[in-house]
Amino acid sequence: MHKLEDLKFINSYARLPEAFHDRPMPAPFPQPYRVAFNEKAAALIGLHPEEASRAEFVNAFTGQVPLTGMEPVSMIYAGHQFGVYVPQLGDGRALVLGEVQTPEGARWELQLKGSGPTRFSRGADGRAVLRSTIREYLASEAMHALGVPTTRALTILGSDMPVYRERVETAAILVRMAPSHVRFGSFEYFAHGGYPARLKELADYVIAHHYPELAERDQPYFAFLETVIRRTADLIARWQAVGFAHGVMNTDNMSILGLTIDYGPYGFLDAYQPGFICNHSDHRGRYAFDQQPRIAWWNLACLAQALLPLLHEDEAAGVELAKAALDRFNGQFASRWTALMGAKLGLAETRREDLDLIERLLGLMAGSAVDYTRFFRALGRFHDPDWLPDLRAAFREPEAFDAWLTDYQARLAGEGREDTARLADMLAVNPKYVLRNYLAQMAIAKAEQKDFSELERLQRLLERPFDEQPEMEAYAALPPDWAEEIAVSCSS
Ligand code: AMP
Ligand code: MG
Repeated sequence: MHKLEDLKFINSYARLPEAFHDRPMPAPFPQPYRVAFNEKAAALIGLHPEEASRAEFVNAFTGQVPLTGMEPVSMIYAGHQFGVYVPQLGDGRALVLGEVQTPEGARWELQLKGSGPTRFSRGADGRAVLRSTIREYLASEAMHALGVPTTRALTILGSDMPVYRERVETAAILVRMAPSHVRFGSFEYFAHGGYPARLKELADYVIAHHYPELAERDQPYFAFLETVIRRTADLIARWQAVGFAHGVMNTDNMSILGLTIDYGPYGFLDAYQPGFICNHSDHRGRYAFDQQPRIAWWNLACLAQALLPLLHEDEAAGVELAKAALDRFNGQFASRWTALMGAKLGLAETRREDLDLIERLLGLMAGSAVDYTRFFRALGRFHDPDWLPDLRAAFREPEAFDAWLTDYQARLAGEGREDTARLADMLAVNPKYVLRNYLAQMAIAKAEQKDFSELERLQRLLERPFDEQPEMEAYAALPPDWAEEIAVSCSS
């Protein structure tokens, strides 16, 4: 494990021409204090956890005093926000410090979120509030532990500096990590802004750094598009299977590595409601839970459109290529999703016919607003006379569930596996603990009083979502009634 000064930083994105970024002045961040620190993320870059107590750590990760090799830049990008194209967005409150190169050859790009205004702030303050940094910190680590590709979170640093939202809050900076923070919108910016040479430069940069294996292919740009489509199909299948709603699937919030990025008004399902809208600003439900696969396709179509000039010199031929790749998305998504849902049901192998069994169950769950996480966690024990009554009681018409259960049992019998082995597999894919909104809210309320103990407790809990943690049983309960009153919006 290394000292701060031993981390090898370079910023390859900052080496791209000026058109790609801004180099804002460091903004003040008065009297910073540490709110959270994640040893697991620190280990990825080989940073010794004790280093987090040093003033140099706080100075570097509030953007005040860069470490050797850091070159803070804000990235430029555009994006479709709620379906409307915005020709220039960019990091309005974020700074990429650079990549840490690990001895094992991995590269982690470190980014500050909430570090102050940049050329891309569009009149906003460049800040993030403590509440939103905690939400992102907890969610990204929870998602990672659930096996969902995501950006990671290293630390949160707070300041009592006031930040004005619907109410006065305080400022915080989240340090997040990903191999790259490039978005679909990064390509859209250069494509629609009329910079074809820059578009190619960005594609070459991304391929060289993140998809080097594609550089050898006949059509590397097409292979890149295909790969992003496949990774996104896998990502969204995982979101749907764990019951995660992102809330703001704008193209500037879509990662070219297929990671979950930019956690804002997200939500994990409590009751199974296909049309669940987690974002209070999303009046029409564009980003409702069950719309996510469709929206992902739409966003990929925006990426494909941006990449068109690189796909083929003849535009019509490029369009045909893009269409062919996009046409495969639905099949890729469906097969991933069916496999993941089949695993939740404890099927060793999922077949096409299982779709009917899965969809009938989800239909019943929706009809009775059954708690998504608790139900799947308990389902593995349906044989057990201590558990079955609770499972049945979750349904308004238990007889309909009984009928489903009969078919389910028949299907399981066909596999001929031992119940104990099946149960063990089910417990390994159906989490006991997810980041319910109200749990995050309780940690936030305490943190706003400078008590960070609940935040740390939640972080530890969510690192092991599949493990029974008997002393934490209360965190697996149904949400309290007040949970419905929590409103999350884009304000962060
Ligand atoms: P988001 O909805 O957080 O993904 O942000 C959309 C765009 O608004 C991005 O370009 C952000 O950088 C920018 N943005 C969001 N909040 C702020 C803020 N407080 N100050 C400056 N820019 C912001
Ligand atoms: Mg964003």
